[in-house]
Amino acid sequence: MNRVAPATELLRIETLRQNQLGRLPLYLLMCLIGCSQTAAPPGLFPYQARGWNKIPIVVVLGQESDPRNQLVRDAVEFWNNQLAQLGSGFRLGPVRLIDQTVPAREIETLRRAIDEGKRALVGPPSGFIQIEGDLIIALSDAAFISFAMSFQKTDKRLIAISSFQRAPLRFTNVGRNLIAHELGHGIGLGHNNDPSKLMCGRPAACRPGEFRSHVEHFFPLMEEEKKVLLKLYPPTWREAH
Ligand SMILES: [Zn+2]
Repeated sequence: MNRVAPATELLRIETLRQNQLGRLPLYLLMCLIGCSQTAAPPGLFPYQARGWNKIPIVVVLGQESDPRNQLVRDAVEFWNNQLAQLGSGFRLGPVRLIDQTVPAREIETLRRAIDEGKRALVGPPSGFIQIEGDLIIALSDAAFISFAMSFQKTDKRLIAISSFQRAPLRFTNVGRNLIAHELGHGIGLGHNNDPSKLMCGRPAACRPGEFRSHVEHFFPLMEEEKKVLLKLYPPTWREAH
């Protein structure tokens, strides 16, 4: 049965509507500040994962005295331990050091191509193809946002590591996890949106500074990432001949 709402009830409804509307701008404002980071549940961003079909020989381009060499060895060990714990048949290969540098200008060109979404259009740096190795880690003295990339004409992949002279990379625990993060890309992982995890990255807001800690330790992987790794490199994984 229809009934006419009494005037007091109409007033109550109207007041409610006004209150809801009045709250809207505040909600929107809060959302602009925090919604994008808090609304999404932890998860992986879409990523075209590419695995290795051989055990990649890791070549570090740098100086023997560079303290980042030890962090590379630690990060390789970290990944090989993760893979062993997962029961994967894949491992990163031995680490070799070559006393060589990638010119800052060439790294800058590659970094710009990544930022402009033109990854596919750039070739590897000069002398890259001739290097006897597969996963080439350039320890640079230049300052830039470190990156990992692959190229169309070669199976070799490049990881370019920025100088650790500046904050936040010079802080305890940051550089170690940054190198492990880039190695994660080097074996086929993309980014996630959980700042407590190693592979957190764009478009999430997390940045390397979040790795800072008084105690040296590697940030963990997400369970979903372990599944991705096992899919790329199952227990039956063997080097292709
Ligand atoms: Zn990344």
